[in-house]
Amino acid sequence: MAGTIKLEIVTPERVVVSEEAQIVTAPGTLGEFGVLIGHTPFLTALQTGAVRYLDPQGGEHFVFVSGGFAEALPDRVTVLAESAERRRDIDVERARAALERAQKRLAEQRSREAVDFARAQAALQRALVRLKIAEKSRPQ
Ligand code: ATP
Repeated sequence: MAGTIKLEIVTPERVVVSEEAQIVTAPGTLGEFGVLIGHTPFLTALQTGAVRYLDPQGGEHFVFVSGGFAEALPDRVTVLAESAERRRDIDVERARAALERAQKRLAEQRSREAVDFARAQAALQRALVRLKIAEKSRPQ
C-alpha cells in the first residue's frame, strides 16, 4: 500500500468521519469518482449517494451523503455535505416512512407546484439511497 489519505465528512451539525483511508469513492454530480494518494486536486458538487472507503486494514465503509461539495487534494478528501450518516447510523424505519411520504406526494402531484414535485423527488431519492446503503450486507 503506497499510503493513506485523510477522509473528512462534515455536515453543518457534526463531523461524521475523520479517518485515514486507502481509497475513497464518492458520488460527484458528473459521476462517481475515486481518490487514491497523490490525486490531482479538484472540487466537485455532490449528488445524493454513498461515499465508500477502505480503512487502512481493508475494512469497507459506506456513508450516506446528500448535497454539498467534495474537495480532493493529493493527501486528503474533504466532503462538506448537507446531511450524512454512516451506514450503521441510518434509521431504516425513518427512511421507510420518508419514502412513503414522498411517494404519496408524488402520486398527488398533479395539482401541485413544480417545486413541490422536485422536493418530493429529492426526498424520495434520499430515502431510496439510505435504504440501499442500510441493506448492504457487509458491515460498517
Ligand atoms: P426526514 O424526512 O426523515 O427528515 P430527510 O431526507 O428530509 O428525511 P435530511 O434533510 O436529509 O432528511 O436530514 C435531516 C437530518 O436528519 C440530518 O441530520 C440527517 O442526517 C438526519 N436523517 C434523516 N433521515 C435519517 C435516517 N433515515 N437515519 C438517520 N438519520 C437521518
